[in-house]
Amino acid sequence: MSDAPAPTADYRGAASAVERRPLPLITFERGSEVRVGADAYRLLQVHWHTPAEHTIDGAEFAAEVHLVHIGEGDQLLVVGTVYELGEADSVVQRLIDETMRAEAAGDAPRLDAAAFAPPAGGYYHYVGSLTAPPFSEPVLWWLRQAVGTVSPRQVEQLQALTDGPNARPLQDRQGRTILCCGG
Ligand SMILES: [Zn+2]
Repeated sequence: MSDAPAPTADYRGAASAVERRPLPLITFERGSEVRVGADAYRLLQVHWHTPAEHTIDGAEFAAEVHLVHIGEGDQLLVVGTVYELGEADSVVQRLIDETMRAEAAGDAPRLDAAAFAPPAGGYYHYVGSLTAPPFSEPVLWWLRQAVGTVSPRQVEQLQALTDGPNARPLQDRQGRTILCCGG
């Protein structure tokens, strides 16, 4: 177990663009950050994976949303939330609808950062790598212990926007320690 403090979020402002690299990344204006102890990390972009890239106690999930932040020395910090099949999630639906609309219209998604702000407690924490090229290390990962739900239709819509499933195959843990933080 770790005594590392869990991230606390202060998200303000709005989305600025949809960037295709080649998967859609929803970029955000400056003004949103998470803090871990004395360190601050600015929100850069939000994207998703279907199926999820993390398992929890061996359980697999339908989707995962990543909030990508950057701190001092270009240190990356990603907050992840996994979703199982169930009721539709309203924030995920806004993400889907505004990504579709903004890409068609060529303007910025109408999304408030605050809607994506992660709560203060309940995370798994480890130091790993990016799940998309260039897989550079290290990345500070904070995975929410709370599992959300998305509907089968939302999974279809998320996959339509990424031209199919886009999760990286599960990686060997390679001796990494996964720490549990927060409440
Ligand atoms: Zn990701």
